[in-house]
Amino acid sequence: MKDPKTALLYGIRQLRRQVERRLKEDGGADVFYRPLPAERGHGRAPADQMDASQKALWQMAQSVRHCSSCPLSRTRKRVVFGEGDSRAQLVFVGEAPGMEEDREGRPFVGAAGQLLTKIIASIGLKREQVYICNVLKCRPPGNRNPAPAEITACKTHLTRQLQILRPKIICALGTFAAQTLLNSQEPIGRLRGKTYAYETIPLIPTFHPAALLYHPQNKRLVWEDMKRIAEILQLPVAAPEARRKSGETG
Ligand code: SF4
Repeated sequence: MKDPKTALLYGIRQLRRQVERRLKEDGGADVFYRPLPAERGHGRAPADQMDASQKALWQMAQSVRHCSSCPLSRTRKRVVFGEGDSRAQLVFVGEAPGMEEDREGRPFVGAAGQLLTKIIASIGLKREQVYICNVLKCRPPGNRNPAPAEITACKTHLTRQLQILRPKIICALGTFAAQTLLNSQEPIGRLRGKTYAYETIPLIPTFHPAALLYHPQNKRLVWEDMKRIAEILQLPVAAPEARRKSGETG
């Protein structure tokens, strides 16, 4: 016989499961779920006014937040699906959520995120005009490196996400994103500096913004990579002097 507290908790869990199942069957909203700004970002418009890619991403985000395909599902606070313009020409793929991202459910919101926002601005774009996601959608405890099995499990989500987004160019941030998308074992220092193809989409690998915080001397190389991206997207870029004055990276 369960003690009263355990029995009550068990009852609440059962009730919640039943309500969730019923709502799913009815195609209704999840009453227990408070949508994140990131997920609302796929469709600030109501669901019936979303375009096809917004809707596909939104639906995918709803399903991925229940994902338990790898052990990170047991330690995460929130799934960090990704955010940005579903019709973006440029998609950034990073490594995995950190502590702040895990707490907020949004990608690149800490110090590295602020630097990424500046990197994006260096080619005249706003963060809302691109799409940002990670290889892993859940935080590895203690910000350790992603394990190969976790990457394998989560890659299906990234692949599908990129199929929906179909950007003009992908920028892989750091070793894990570049290796995953290029099926390579080479470190980022070796991979960067060239343009590759992910399926038929041009892919440019560069250093992860978190790594730039420790090695600011590599900002110059990131700027070279961003110029290459700007060229492909035919974006005018500011001269280094003008960027320095405006406080952007470089
Ligand atoms: S990291 Fe990816 S595969 Fe693992 S639980 Fe999270 S969403 Fe699922």
